[in-house]
Parts: sequence; structure tokens; C-alpha cells
Amino acid sequence: MRIVLLGAPGSGKGTQAAILTEQLEVPHISTGMLLRAAVEAGTELGKQAKAVMDRGELVSDDIMLGLIEERLSAPDADGGFILDGYPRNLSQAAALDTLLERLDKPLDIAIQIDVNAELVIGRIAKRAREEGRSDDSEETVRRRMQVYEERTAPVVGHYADKGLLTRVLGEGSIEEVNQRIMAVLRAEAAT
Ligand code: AMP
Repeated sequence: MRIVLLGAPGSGKGTQAAILTEQLEVPHISTGMLLRAAVEAGTELGKQAKAVMDRGELVSDDIMLGLIEERLSAPDADGGFILDGYPRNLSQAAALDTLLERLDKPLDIAIQIDVNAELVIGRIAKRAREEGRSDDSEETVRRRMQVYEERTAPVVGHYADKGLLTRVLGEGSIEEVNQRIMAVLRAEAAT
């Protein structure tokens, strides 16, 4: 299955993708993780990306498209994938449509994980304490939420227009949310 997971920062997208990758045996492709790996490795791309990420802004569409094209072209993505963190704005969504058409890997479904804003802020604060992510400071989190509302939230409409969108409630335990997603995927596989 070829899946895009959507949701605000702290919606549990990454956590769910990490479980789904085991259940579905398809790669979990997180652009945030790819970028953090580039930062760790100290590559030129990583150096450019770090400052942008630490401000809570979006890395340029050109850089992101290059990164995602390389990753989606890898053989392990032939049998499907779970995209987490891409697309992040409408132009990335259009670029992804074109790329997947060219690779002959059309999306099966986009799943939006819905959570209320207060829950999200609490979860991010917890992650900041546990993982020490440098982009989890209060100011950066506020900016990331703003960027999400302005730039990323419209991507939900893009997939709704294409008839690919399903919404799942992201509240409750990790297992509960996973079961909701698996139910949606089973229904999709049956069609
Ligand atoms: P994430 O782990 O998905 O929350 O991503 C962490 C940060 O990486 C974001 O706040 C952005 O600065 C950057 N990033 C991740 N994915 C993208 C993307 N698709 N487009 C632009 N920037 C991204």
C-alpha cells in the first residue's frame, strides 16, 4: 500500500507510522528523519536544513523534492510506503502527484490524524523532554504550529478533492489509534 499520513506536529503521525511499517512491511519514509540524519551526518544539505528546522520553518521545496524522489525511487519502496511529513504544502502535494505518476506508484490513501490543539502542545512538550529535539523549544513549536495551519492544513483538501482522504481520530491510546488506522486500511484493501 502507498500511504500518506497527515496531521499536525504532535498528532502521533510518526509514532503511528513506526508501528504501521512493521505491520504492513513497507518502509516508513519520514522527511523529518531524513533531514535530521543529514544534519547528524554534517552534509551540506544538513547544514542548510538545520537553521531552517530550528526556526520551525519549511526547508525549500526543491531540496525536499530531491530528497523524496531519491528515497521513493529506492527498490524497497516498490512494494509500497508510508510517507510521514511530506507533502507539507500545496506545491509539494502537486510535485508528489507528478513524481508518483512518473514512477507509476499512485497513492492508495491519505490518512489525516485529527487531534485537538491542546493535546498536541502537551505531546510536543513531552517529546522535547524525552528526546531533546532542538526544534521542540516553545517558540519553535509555536512557529511550527502556525506553519502547519497556514501551509500544511490545505494539503488535506488536496487529497479530499482527489477522493483519497480518510480522517481518523488521533485521541486515545497509541493502540486505539493504530486500530482505527488498520480498520481504514483493511476497508481500503477490500475495495
Ligand atoms: P518533522 O519531523 O516531520 O516534524 O519535521 C521536522 C522539520 O523538518 C520541520 O519542522 C521542517 O523544518 C523540516 N521538514 C520536514 N519535512 C519537510 C517537508 N516536507 N518540507 C519542508 N520542510 C520539512
